[in-house]
Amino acid sequence: MKQRKHVYIQTWGCQMNELDTDRIVEILSVDGYERVWDPERADLILLNTCSVREKAEHKVYSSLGRFRRIKEERPGVIVGVSGCVAQMVGRKMLERIPYLDLVCGPGSYARLPEMVAAIEAKRHRRLCELDLGYENLMRTYDRSFAPRIVAPGKVSAYVTIMTGCDKFCTFCIVPHVRGREWSRPSAQILEEVRELAGQGVREVVLLGQTVNSYGKRPKGDLSFPALLDRIAGIEGIERIRFTSPFPKDLSDELIEVYRHNPKVCRHIHLPVQSGSDTILKRMKRQYTRRDFLERVDRLRSVAPDLAITTDFIVGFPGEREEDFEDTMSLLETVRFDASFSFSFSPRPGTPAATAPDPVPEEIANERLLRLQQRQGEITLEIERGYLGRAVEILVEGGSRRGQGQLTGRTSCNKIVNFPGDETLIGRFVSVRIEEVLPNSMRGSVVSERPETGALLVGDAVAT
Ligand code: SF4
Repeated sequence: MKQRKHVYIQTWGCQMNELDTDRIVEILSVDGYERVWDPERADLILLNTCSVREKAEHKVYSSLGRFRRIKEERPGVIVGVSGCVAQMVGRKMLERIPYLDLVCGPGSYARLPEMVAAIEAKRHRRLCELDLGYENLMRTYDRSFAPRIVAPGKVSAYVTIMTGCDKFCTFCIVPHVRGREWSRPSAQILEEVRELAGQGVREVVLLGQTVNSYGKRPKGDLSFPALLDRIAGIEGIERIRFTSPFPKDLSDELIEVYRHNPKVCRHIHLPVQSGSDTILKRMKRQYTRRDFLERVDRLRSVAPDLAITTDFIVGFPGEREEDFEDTMSLLETVRFDASFSFSFSPRPGTPAATAPDPVPEEIANERLLRLQQRQGEITLEIERGYLGRAVEILVEGGSRRGQGQLTGRTSCNKIVNFPGDETLIGRFVSVRIEEVLPNSMRGSVVSERPETGALLVGDAVAT
């Protein structure tokens, strides 16, 4: 039996990075590694980094500084950096930080066991892997190489179905650090979802930077809508979510899925970024305001109860007051259920970082505040519409508030907390909404869906 060793991983960033961390743990577990939450107990310390937010590189350097003492006291500990910052500046980091042993980009996680073993055996003192090629990447997700293990009682699980991005929006670093778009083979994904269902998972969230480009590169046997239908046919899977689709590629075939596939949840996160054609062009988003609104109309004509959320960047270089007004009017027209909004901050290495006409920070912040205030009002208005209604929830676990409170989500992705017994975890219950709070709702259970009960569509419940 392999000797048990401990890995500590600190993760920054998006859901995909969180999932990558889980995958790294699964891959390393084959070599006897067990995850720990205390770096003092670790034989391997990894920083799984994200380059999307501001000063990403600087944050990694300062975090690495925390582990210097551990490395000095226990020189056998391996210290590594993975993720997008590793891909972007990993070689420079190795030059600058003498106690850094290992750099591994997002395409090379399957190589981690060999890299760690080589350093442990002192065959190499330091190693760096930054290959983003298809073979390497697909091995990361091959479960015959390392199985997928979810925590007992886990109801919802992420599944990466594609990686990388070919869009090259001018503000975004992702294509530079995650590489070209690659889709996983459908058979591998379906097998993974079956295994998750076998472990009690009832909802899968399919991940990809532009998830609806699935199946295009390399050309696969299933399109994205066809993949959704195949996953819906897997026994035990009751809900399917996906994030994030790219608006330009939202095909009629995908929109039609909402008509015939009740397992696909009634929520779509469709990042628009701006309501101004001038700014969309500068961002190189490849769609116009009109294209976006047309897609929203088509979605709503097929699924009127669909919750739509989005992302906005405010204060992009060249954004004039009238451009921002276009964004505000788009917000009013669509009435998004919620939005994530940020003021523009340049990412080194992207075209927008050196674009002319920067918007002064105070103007960008003032616009951001206006947008967030109005979005907050719209969100509240939409959520108040739930008061007194009974909605179906998939119970995901105990609420953070504890005290006999459970938490779950509606099909439209509204978080609902309610008092209940832990035996309900993993079940569908109808909850009558009694209170709307800023980020969640509260209510009480009205009834439970029998195991053989019919699947309800959207957030409607017959009571
Ligand atoms: S679509 Fe644009 S914003 Fe999204 S990951 Fe690709 S380049 Fe970045």
